[in-house]
Amino acid sequence: MIRVGDLLRRPVVALPETATIREVAVELVKNRVGLAVLTAKDNQKRPVAVVSERDVLRAVAERRDLDGPAMAVANRPITVFDTDPVRVAAEKMRQHNIRHVVVVNKDGELVGVLSVRDLCFERAILFELATAEAPATP
Ligand code: AMP
Repeated sequence: MIRVGDLLRRPVVALPETATIREVAVELVKNRVGLAVLTAKDNQKRPVAVVSERDVLRAVAERRDLDGPAMAVANRPITVFDTDPVRVAAEKMRQHNIRHVVVVNKDGELVGVLSVRDLCFERAILFELATAEAPATP
């Protein structure tokens, strides 16, 4: 079984929760990724919010002050554990209509971000997702 932790290759783009929208945009562009994680001021390993390129785009469309706080356009992180099977990550993306999940370890510490692209280009993962049992419905 392939687990989320097996797929984490890129370092996370993380900024302090005090970051501005522009600072997030600069890091997204520099690192060529779509999601930044905002972390607690007193603990860089604790994810408190996420900002995706979509949120930055919305901020531009709404004529927000880009030097204002990124927290104003951020969302509370949806997470998976690094030990979860990849299908859990895929299911959360589908459920919440998002392209990224934040990955934490058993202590809730930030260890990575998995994007939908990370799930798309490896035959073994696609095979696993295709053959996984459907999630139980309540
Ligand atoms: P995305 O499709 O992932 O670029 O993001 C679309 C929207 O979902 C944006 O408003 C993001 O802030 C939000 N979003 C993306 N990933 C997550 C996540 N892991 N937890 C919470 N919100 C997220």
